[in-house]
Amino acid sequence: MRALVVEKDEDSGKTRAAVKDIAEDDLPAGDVTVAVEYSTLNYKDGLCIGQGGGLVRSYPHVPGIDFSGTVESSDDPRYAPGDKVVLTGWRVGEAHWGGYAEKARVKADWLVPLPEGLDTRMAMAVGTAGFTAMLGVMALEDHGLEPEHGPVLVTGASGGVGSVAIAILANLGYEVAAVTGRPDNESYLRELGASTIVPRAEIADTVKRPLEAETWAGCIDAVGGAMLARVLGQMKYGCSVASVGLAGGADLPAKVIPFLLRGVNLLGIDSVMKPYDTRLEAWRRVARDLPMENLEDMIETATLDALPDLGAAILEGRVKGRVLVDIR
Ligand code: NDP
Repeated sequence: MRALVVEKDEDSGKTRAAVKDIAEDDLPAGDVTVAVEYSTLNYKDGLCIGQGGGLVRSYPHVPGIDFSGTVESSDDPRYAPGDKVVLTGWRVGEAHWGGYAEKARVKADWLVPLPEGLDTRMAMAVGTAGFTAMLGVMALEDHGLEPEHGPVLVTGASGGVGSVAIAILANLGYEVAAVTGRPDNESYLRELGASTIVPRAEIADTVKRPLEAETWAGCIDAVGGAMLARVLGQMKYGCSVASVGLAGGADLPAKVIPFLLRGVNLLGIDSVMKPYDTRLEAWRRVARDLPMENLEDMIETATLDALPDLGAAILEGRVKGRVLVDIR
């Protein structure tokens, strides 16, 4: 069977990714073997296709942090051959071989049944990035966000998390402002539902004043770094930022003043270890709240062979929307 295999040269320490034939016996241990239909490209996949980013445990490695497909065989009573399933998280594609192969063998605990209302292609068009955007929206709602509270900011707007977050929020009736460093993407972002475009340069500078004008009722932040620090000072009183990503850096050069004087909340979003019931709820919400015509506008379809180049592109912030990997 075909797989994207990353190998490491122990002398130089360099890795190289290429499509190879591997034997089914090479798959890692697990209770369920899935015939993979679709996978996707997420930021973490870019790291795992490349030098590993400290995520890959051993080589040779098959990346792909998410996949959808059909159960081929199962030692677990919850799944039977023919069942359609989805996997995101659990360090699959990092510590465990992932979805960039015609088959994957995983623990039954890591799977969820294909959500009602989605097919395997749509589920991976959403993928980890879109699933995590939904978790971010749910966290803001849990902390009281409602459409009449004011505009919601989405950073890293043209990326996978950002694109899906915009489409969901706009569909739920929120006014959405999108931060992008790529002005050419303005019409794409407006079609997804953004009503305001904030140029990245306007919000990327380090914090000079800890409190700026109270502007945003919520924020889905895929960027982190100095931008997240600035956003904290622009939040309305008592409002929340969902911290999802670090495309702009892992440091947080912020002041605590927005927490103390404005009661701003910084909510951490993790998709990897989310409990099963929350996963089901997030997928149910994706099927309900993400307009599928918006999803189609976000997709670029790729094959395994294109992944080495696409992996580099996502790390450089050159990918727009979602890359769907067709493994069939
Ligand atoms: P993408 O690369 O698709 O999107 C990131 C976007 O951020 C880019 O498209 C770009 O948007 C913007 N960006 C890129 N570089 C910079 C920079 N240096 N400064 C400011 N903005 C930048 O990645 P994903 O959407 O897949 O993931 C986004 C982040 O979320 C990643 O850090 C990822 O690891 C994280 N993530 C976290 C998860 C979790 O469980 N917490 C799950 C999934 C993802 P534009 O060009 O419009 O500015």
